[in-house]
Amino acid sequence: MKELVKETIKKDLFINGEWKTANQYTPLYSPYSGECIAEVPAATLEEVEFALQSAYEARNIIASMPSHRRASILENLVKLLEEKADEAAQILALEAAKPITTAKAEIARTIQTYKFAAEEAKRIHGETIPVDAAPGGEGRIAYTVREPIGVVAAITPFNFPMNLVAHKVGPAIASGNTVVLKPAQQTPLSAFFLAELLQEAGLPAGALNVVTGSGSLIGEKLVTDERVQKISFTGSPEVGIGIRNKAGLKRVTLELGSNAAVIIDKDVDIDSIIARCVSGAFAFQGQVCISLQRIYVHEELYSAFVEKFVAATQKLIIGDPLDASTDVSALISSKDVQRALGWIEEAKQQGAKLAAGGQTKNNILYPTVLLDVDPTLKVSCQEVFAPIVLINKFSSVDEAIELVNDSKYGLQAGIYTQNIHTALKATQQLHVGGVIVNDIPTFRLDHMPYGGVKESGIGREGVKYAIEEMTEQKLIVFNQTNSSV
Ligand code: NDP
Repeated sequence: MKELVKETIKKDLFINGEWKTANQYTPLYSPYSGECIAEVPAATLEEVEFALQSAYEARNIIASMPSHRRASILENLVKLLEEKADEAAQILALEAAKPITTAKAEIARTIQTYKFAAEEAKRIHGETIPVDAAPGGEGRIAYTVREPIGVVAAITPFNFPMNLVAHKVGPAIASGNTVVLKPAQQTPLSAFFLAELLQEAGLPAGALNVVTGSGSLIGEKLVTDERVQKISFTGSPEVGIGIRNKAGLKRVTLELGSNAAVIIDKDVDIDSIIARCVSGAFAFQGQVCISLQRIYVHEELYSAFVEKFVAATQKLIIGDPLDASTDVSALISSKDVQRALGWIEEAKQQGAKLAAGGQTKNNILYPTVLLDVDPTLKVSCQEVFAPIVLINKFSSVDEAIELVNDSKYGLQAGIYTQNIHTALKATQQLHVGGVIVNDIPTFRLDHMPYGGVKESGIGREGVKYAIEEMTEQKLIVFNQTNSSV
């Protein structure tokens, strides 16, 4: 760990294929140890301007590159990431306090995402239109092509610094776009690491530019600049809604937050699902957009479920993210620890029962289980983004579906049931972007269409779907009746 700290001591901006000394730098601290782990550029508006111009000027170079070449750049990136997977995982553990085992899993997924991007690069196509289906269409041939949209502004959160960046940079390169990437302030090192690898992989200058620093300063410029054609944002609903309001006619994809829930029906073997539910609630300290926040259990199973869930929670190992045995480590900031503690306190005061956790050690909040939580309390109706889960009981699945839907969010929901009719009803009535049957909502593969309804966002990621949103459909019509040949 110490060697890595030394190596990453100072990072520069990555603009137009070069490492540029920045006008100003800020220290980056480990959320776990509090020690300074790097000095990182705080980009100025002039530097962002330079990045935007570089991306704009490079757009025709990558747009006219044959797709097999774009695919091979992404394949090269995959090879480099495979070789450097351990180093990449260590960066995540260091800058985000992601437990190293979870960090390794993120890198494995990142590799998958870029592999999918390399594959999808080769199958971007339009369709033929049967124009003679309408009177007046006789003697014409029509088809569509998909063209790159231009410059993509990618704004990403701290919680999956490699894979969520991959969900923007991968599809953008695959479909012939250029990118200005603005990673979260707490997790810039992974973005610079990616830039190094893509440079080595043969990406043309200007196709990826990385600018780090304040979201409100840089983000504002990216969102309003007219050279940007598409904003791909993952982060909090609050920031996402602000971006949408400023984006004008730009294409916008928003992958926002949630308070994801699971329903556990009365016919379920709870022993077989406890470990999975505990991991859904507490993996990466609950800082996952589809983290399991609300568990609704049929009243016949409720007491047994709570007892087993709490026992399994208390076995989780708390500690250093770089230790392979650690399950739960520090939250991203002390501000988030204070916020989470305030929400737990509010729940307790309003009659919820604390069944586990609730205490802290530095920036670590112990995995916390709350029972009998009123749906109006923050730990239920807001996104907790911390290791806190509530377990409430229900008497009918209809009631449970209503409880899940009683949310301003709608990313994914899960239901465990042995009854096919109940499962089908849930898939039809749950108002979310994805329903996962016989699993927790915390399930994502990187080629799935992924995104939410309500305040969980607009648009879909999952490489193929992101490409649809990063390309413009163009119609071509040939009039054969006007040919002089
Ligand atoms: P934030 O919304 O705080 O930040 C996300 C990004 O937006 C950061 O790069 C941030 O920069 C930037 N930003 C901040 N203010 C502005 C602004 N005014 N204009 C433009 N950009 C801005 O989210 P977090 O990093 O805290 O991430 C957690 C959130 O992300 C949770 O709500 C979570 O649910 C959501 N998320 C959603 C996912 C999904 O796929 N649906 C997946 C993962 C997370 P800076 O760091 O400098 O503030």
